[in-house]
Formats: sequence, C-alpha cells, structure tokens
Amino acid sequence: MSVVHALRDPDLPEADVHHGRRGGSRPLSPAVDPERLRGRLSEEIPGLLRYARSITPDRALAEDLVQTTMVRALERLDTFRGESGLATWLHRILHNAFVDHVRRTREAPAEDVWEMVEGRWRDDAYTLDPATVAARASTVQDLRDALLRLPMMYRSAVVLHDMEGLTVPQIARVQEIGLSAAKQRLHRGRIMLVSALASGAERRAATRGVPMNCWDARTQVSDYLDDELGDRDRQLLEQHLEHCPTCPPLYSALVASRDAVTRLRDADTVIPRSLADRLERLRQESRRPKEDAPPPAPRVI
Ligand SMILES: [Zn+2]
Repeated sequence: MSVVHALRDPDLPEADVHHGRRGGSRPLSPAVDPERLRGRLSEEIPGLLRYARSITPDRALAEDLVQTTMVRALERLDTFRGESGLATWLHRILHNAFVDHVRRTREAPAEDVWEMVEGRWRDDAYTLDPATVAARASTVQDLRDALLRLPMMYRSAVVLHDMEGLTVPQIARVQEIGLSAAKQRLHRGRIMLVSALASGAERRAATRGVPMNCWDARTQVSDYLDDELGDRDRQLLEQHLEHCPTCPPLYSALVASRDAVTRLRDADTVIPRSLADRLERLRQESRRPKEDAPPPAPRVI
C-alpha cells in the first residue's frame, strides 16, 4: 500500500503549491469516475491512520475514525467533485468525525491553553533549552505526549502540515476555516508544541539593546520557517536573531520540533491487519446494490 499523496489542488495558486512537498501531484479530472475513486480511497488509508494516531492517543479510536471516514466517504462518493484533492476531502471527513467525538468528551478550551503559552512567549526574557526540546522531540513517545497536550485544532494543524505535508489552504479546507485562521493555528500550534516539549526546562535571560522586540520576532518565526517572509522582514528578523539572547533557542527548538513531527510520519505507516480487513469488507460491500447489503454502521466512537 502506498503512502499518502499530498494531493495538490488544481485551483491553488502557484505560490501555495510548493508546500505540498511530499508525494506526487495527481490532479483530478473534473469528471471523477466513482469506480476509480473507490480504488484510490484505499491508497489514502495509511495517511489517514497516521493523522488519526497523531491526534488521539487512543489507538482503537484512531482506527474507528478511519473506518468512519471510509464509511462516510463511500456514502458520499457521488458528492465528491474534485475541487479539493481527495486527501484533503478525506482528512476533512476524519477531522469532523474527531471534532464530534471531542465535543462529546470535552477537552480544555483551546483559547485558555493558548493564552497561557502566549503569556510566556510575550516575555522577552523567556527562553528554553533547545537541547532538551530536541532530545524529547527525538523520542517518538515524548513527541506524541507533547503533541497531545496541544488543543485539538492546533495539534491537527501541526500534524497536517508538518507531518502529512498538506498546504495551509488545504488545512483551511479540512478544518473548514479561513486561510488566516489556518495559518494562525499552524503558527500557534508550533509554539505550543515547543513549550510542551520544553516544559520544566525553561530559562530567563537579559535582552537589553536588541533590535526589534522579541514578541514581534517570535510571531514571525513560523513564516520564516516556511520561507514566507518578505525580504525586509526577513532581514530584520535575522538581525534580531543575531543579537537576541532568548529568541535563537526558541527558534532552533521550533526547527527541531517541526523536523521531528515530519519524521514521526515514518514511525506510523503500518496498518493493523484487523483494520485492513474491516476496510476491505467495507469496500467490497459498497460495490453491491444497497438492498442487497446495507453498509455496516461504524462502531460507536
Ligand atoms: Zn528576541
């Protein structure tokens, strides 16, 4: 089974496309053949499972989310128009299934968690030990634990972008939000992940006499990381990083944790036999006429 393809949207502007950096480009034709589409659904399962396992620690729930996604996708196959890529469409279905689940089980309000982290990053004297962050990020279990401390929306944005290779416009479609909100979730998510990885190993340092203030620099590092800053902002930020005692460790921690999330992808590509069997049965049954055998209902999640 092949790995997920970060499908590029045919309607995306060129500037957005370079972020779909992994996987080949296979734009869909406007008339999508349902039979072909059904075949391609299974190619997306490894990516969906990886995504599901990164947003929930509960492996059974992750598998159920993938199954629910496949059930819903097969039910709605005729509504798929191909404007967003197949991977984006499927991730959106999975995302919504997980949002439903989170609503039922309640987690801490995302805004509260962000405010706490932001409060620390706004302090010019705040910094951390990048070696601690890099060490924790290199351990799959520690990285997973840290990811799970992020509110779901932020966790999802980081995983979709840095692990699954989706673009910001694709994340916006998956989460059904605007472009700037998607960008903000990625940026905040990365910051929160670094703080979660560093927790307990934070430091303070004097920051007098440094060009540009630290908060401005820190709000731009996520764009800097994705090479999206204009020349002038980039120069200013680089000057700041050169002189500031506190921001460079934060920046290198961001780079380290982003790279670790990217690598996490490879640790989780194997689909358990039982899930593969369940999905194969589903696919077979979706081929039969409805009155013959109704598609099985997903397990309650
Ligand atoms: Zn600074």
